[in-house]
Amino acid sequence: MNQEHTSRPVVGIDLGTTNSAIGYIRGGKPKLIAATNGQSLLPSVVLIDPKGTVIVGQNAKDALVAMPDRSIAAVKRKMGSNEEIVLAGQTFTPEEISAFILKEMKRRADELYGEGEIEAVITVPAYFTDEQRRATKRAGELAGFMVERIINEPTAAALSFGLDHLQEDGNFLVYDLGGGTFDVSIVEMFSGVLEVKASSGDRMLGGEDFDWRLVNWFAEQILAEHGIDPRLDIRGKAMLKEEAERVKIALSTENTVSVSLPLVTVKDNHPVGLAVEVTRSQFVALIEDLIAQTMERMSEVIKDAELSVKDIDEVLLVGGSTRIPLVRDTISALLGIVPRSDVHPDEAVALGAAVQAGLKSGLLSESGLIATDVAPFSMGIAVLAEKSGGRTRPGEFSPIIGRNTVIPVTRSQKFYTSALGQTAVAIEVYQGEHEWVKYNHRLGEFMMEGIPENWKGQEAVEVTFRYNLNGILEVTARSVSSGEEMSITLQDALNRNNRREFEESVQRLQELWENVPQASEDDENLEDASLFDPEDWDLLSDIPGDLDELDENWDVSEDDEAPTMLHEDGKLLMQQARKTLAGMESGQQAKLIDTIQELEQALQEEDVDKLKHVMERVTDLLIDAEF
Ligand code: ADP
Ligand code: MG
Repeated sequence: MNQEHTSRPVVGIDLGTTNSAIGYIRGGKPKLIAATNGQSLLPSVVLIDPKGTVIVGQNAKDALVAMPDRSIAAVKRKMGSNEEIVLAGQTFTPEEISAFILKEMKRRADELYGEGEIEAVITVPAYFTDEQRRATKRAGELAGFMVERIINEPTAAALSFGLDHLQEDGNFLVYDLGGGTFDVSIVEMFSGVLEVKASSGDRMLGGEDFDWRLVNWFAEQILAEHGIDPRLDIRGKAMLKEEAERVKIALSTENTVSVSLPLVTVKDNHPVGLAVEVTRSQFVALIEDLIAQTMERMSEVIKDAELSVKDIDEVLLVGGSTRIPLVRDTISALLGIVPRSDVHPDEAVALGAAVQAGLKSGLLSESGLIATDVAPFSMGIAVLAEKSGGRTRPGEFSPIIGRNTVIPVTRSQKFYTSALGQTAVAIEVYQGEHEWVKYNHRLGEFMMEGIPENWKGQEAVEVTFRYNLNGILEVTARSVSSGEEMSITLQDALNRNNRREFEESVQRLQELWENVPQASEDDENLEDASLFDPEDWDLLSDIPGDLDELDENWDVSEDDEAPTMLHEDGKLLMQQARKTLAGMESGQQAKLIDTIQELEQALQEEDVDKLKHVMERVTDLLIDAEF
C-alpha cells in the first residue's frame, strides 16, 4: 500500500504574558522567526486603533497609556476565565485577544512557508489549569493554526538547552519567572532523555506584580503629598505602570533610578506629578516577599523530585524577571550554584517549542533527544467521606491521577452508590492537593445517569481519567453492572454548543483582522488603514450595542478628521506632551503644563474647534522644546 506522506510545517510558539515569540527548525537548530523590522520578540499587547486597525506588538504597547480603552496587555493572566474584555467598545474573550497575538505569529509563519496549513506547538506554564490549556489551544485554532501540542514552558526551556548539551547528564532546575507566571521544574537529563521529575509554580506571580508594587508605592506617595489617588485616573495609572516597569528594569543594572513625572493626574485643575528617587534596596524591600514565595516553591519541587539541594547540578534561568539581581543572588545562595549563562532568558521557551516541533515533524529525529513530562497537580473527584458511626460528609477529594505522574496517563477507579435505588450521580472533577474539594480547583461536572436501581453500595461506577500529552484531561464514567456500558466525557459536556460559537468567532476575528492592510508592529503609518466598509457592518450587528458605538465613533465620510479620530490624536498628543515635560527647562515646562490642561479640558468638552486650536499650540510647544 502506498501511504501518502503529508508533512505540514510545524512551528513552536511561546505565547507569553509579556512577550511572545515563534520558532522553527532550520539546519537542525531552532531559530526564531523575526518580524520584518528584525525583532523576534513580540510584546503581547493588542490595540484596536481609532480606525479599527488591529495592531499587535510594540506599537500597541506604546499606546497603552494614551489609549487604555483600546489596548490590552497581559491577557494571558485572564486565560481560562470568562472575563469579558472590552476593547474599543467591542467585547472579546481572553482567547480571542490571544488569537490576535497568534495571528501575528501566523503572519510570520506564512511569510516563511507561504500561506497554508501550519501546525503549532504552543507553550503554557506548567502550572496552567485545564481551562487555561484549553483556552490556549482554542486561541491557536482561532488564529488558524492546527494546534498539534501544548507543552509546558519549563520543559520547552529544558529541551532547547538539551539539544545543545546532549552529553551533559544530571539534574537541572529550571526557574522561569516571566511577566505573569512563575514556574519551577526539576528535569533529569540522561543520554539525551529528558525527564521532568516534578513541577510547581504560581499562575499569578511575575514581573507584573513587581510593577504593581512599585505603582502602589508611587501612588501612596502622591496620595500622601497631594491627597489624590492617581490610580483612580485610568491614564495616570497606566502612566505609573509604564514608569514602574522602566524603573524596575533600570534597577537591575543601576543602584538608583530617578522618577520625574510632572503630570500624572490633575487635582482641582492643577497638575499632580511625582519626583522621587528609587534605590535598589527600596525596590528589594517591595518585592522580597514575592521572591521568597518562589524560593519556597523551589524547595518544594526539589523535595517532590525526591532530591536534596546537593543533587541539583545546574540551574537554568528563564524569563525576563530573572534579570533581577535579587533573584539570581537568592538562588545562588540557596543552592550554592551559579546559574548557567548560556540559556537565553527571553528565547529559550520559543526555541524549545521549536525543538518539540522538530521532534514531531521528524526534522530532529536524528538528535536522539526525547522528553517526558509530568502532571503538575493531582486530579480527582468529589466523594462522600465516611465518618465514624456510619455518618458521611460530602466534598472529600479522591485523587485519581497523582501529582507528578508521568504523562500521558490513564487511571481508573471504581466508586459505589451511596443510597438505595440511586440511578444518577454527579461527577465533580477537581485538581489540587487538598483533602477537601472546596480548597481545590474545580474543572467541571457532569451527571452520570442510567445506573440500574439497586441496594446502597451495590452499583459501581468506573471513572476513568485520561491526561494527555497536552496536559488536557478527559473524564469518562461508566456503569459497571450488567455488562451495560455507558460513558460520558467531560469534554462532551463542555463542548456541546461550542462548535458554532467557534466558527462565528473565527469569522469575526478575521473580519477585524482583514479590516487592516497588513498593519503590524513595524507599520508606523496608521494613516493608510482603511475604514470599515459600511456594508460590512451587518457582520458586527450581533454584538450588542456595537452598531450604536460604530455610528457614534466611526466616520465613513470623506472627512479625515472625524471627531473621534481627532479625539484620539488629542489623547496621543497629550501623552507625548506629558512625556516631554520631564526634560524641559522650567519656563517652558510651566507653559506646556498650562496648555496640556487646556487640551485635557478641550478633550472633555469635545469641542472640535477648540481641540484643533489647542492641539496646534501643544504641537508648537513640543517643536520648540526639541530645539
Ligand atoms: P512572559 O514569559 O511572561 O512573557 P518574559 O519572560 O518576556 O515574560 O518576561 C517579561 C518580564 O520580565 C516583564 O515583567 C519585564 O518587565 C521583566 N523584565 C525584562 N527585563 C528585565 C530586567 N532587565 N530586569 C527586571 N525585569 C525585567
Ligand atoms: Mg515566558
